Amino acid sequence: MNTDKSVILFERAKKVIPGGVNSPVRAFQAVGGQPLFIKKAEGAYLYDEDGNRYIDCINSWGPMILGHAYAPVLEAIQRAAADSPSFGAPTRLEVEMAELIVSMVPSVEMVRMVNSGTEATMSAIRLARGYTGRHKIIKFEGCYHGHGDSFLIAAGSGAATTGAPNSPGVTPGTAQDTLIAPYNDLQAVEALIAQYPEQIAAIIVEPVAGNMGCVLPKPGYLQGLRDLCDKHGIVLIFDEVMTGFRLAPGGAQERFGVFPDLTTLGKIIGGGMPVGAYGGKREIMEKVSPSGKVYQAGTLSGNPVAMAAGLAILRELRENSAIYARLESIGDKLYKGMKGELEKRGLHYTMNKIGSMLNVFFTEQTVYDFTTAKSCDLQLFAKYFQAMLRRGVYLAPSQFESWFCSAALSEEDIQHIIQAHADALDEIIN
Ligand code: PLP
Repeated sequence: MNTDKSVILFERAKKVIPGGVNSPVRAFQAVGGQPLFIKKAEGAYLYDEDGNRYIDCINSWGPMILGHAYAPVLEAIQRAAADSPSFGAPTRLEVEMAELIVSMVPSVEMVRMVNSGTEATMSAIRLARGYTGRHKIIKFEGCYHGHGDSFLIAAGSGAATTGAPNSPGVTPGTAQDTLIAPYNDLQAVEALIAQYPEQIAAIIVEPVAGNMGCVLPKPGYLQGLRDLCDKHGIVLIFDEVMTGFRLAPGGAQERFGVFPDLTTLGKIIGGGMPVGAYGGKREIMEKVSPSGKVYQAGTLSGNPVAMAAGLAILRELRENSAIYARLESIGDKLYKGMKGELEKRGLHYTMNKIGSMLNVFFTEQTVYDFTTAKSCDLQLFAKYFQAMLRRGVYLAPSQFESWFCSAALSEEDIQHIIQAHADALDEIIN
């Protein structure tokens, strides 16, 4: 595989962009080798600068759920851009977008558009604090909610539950307001609530975690969080930046039948353009300025080109239920096919899956939280990643990321991925 052009571009990039990339995981540091520079994409395929084609199992980390360069999205973007890309004033498109989100996401009565998932989670936390008058939040180890200071906190050592910053630049003051609990452990949450009575503003959770690999909530876990929040006056936030519109038209909350107070959204709602949103109960959302006092704003928020792209994709998802059936069937076929190849070889590596999110963990332990996810053999994953790439399958360059399949995968693509997986296993396991 010739990747000379990517190699040259990476050299140029490293001189002018920190680490040569605009988002760290793209640098391939966890898997070694050089990142590929992508020139274009269409349907299920990515094409790099050297013209190599890859089946895309990441889809821009989730947004491209119907595949790349999806015609209705492209047309919508072109039409909106022709009217000028931004006005900084209210538009019809953002009203239509808000109405559509409210009609699709069960617990959302009002919504505010922002420009990224990070902005959505940062704003939701500020709102929860403003609404409750409390300072602390609980987040779960291994969940990622963007790069806001409050979320860049790892668990303290041992039994310590008060976070310590895991990025220079996050102040101890911020860290002390972020409490950490293991995912899928209700008792740990109860203990934190008991330790900090009437101090916790919000619990923020990925209802299905995608940022430690794909990790599912145990039965009763999400409802347990809901009950604890109700009992203690805590705002429950589902971060559905990944799961929103992916696991069902109404996201994970529809799929599991558990409804948060606030929901954060991103990725799919922009159809590939930079968009985020936060929404929820009217009573809470009305606290956002200018109707309330919790300040939040954005020069490009509700940008017409981004709204047009998002509307095109959300309308398709709402109107064509066959898409979700197709996504389920793609996830099922990949899971069964890949698991079968592991079993044929007597390998007991764990696979987790829900809908079109799945991945292989190179550990024999059941993976239900970050500790179990971290038991993976990361060197083996790196070899697997490279072996898959050489066979034309583009995965996330980290063990701790879910796959995000698109509905554009054909039967042939699915078989190609399963065969690549089988051949990769034969290459890397001796
Ligand atoms: N929340 C979750 C669950 C995410 O997966 C991400 C990004 O991957 C974010 C928030 C942050 O979104 P963004 O990268 O658009 O800022």
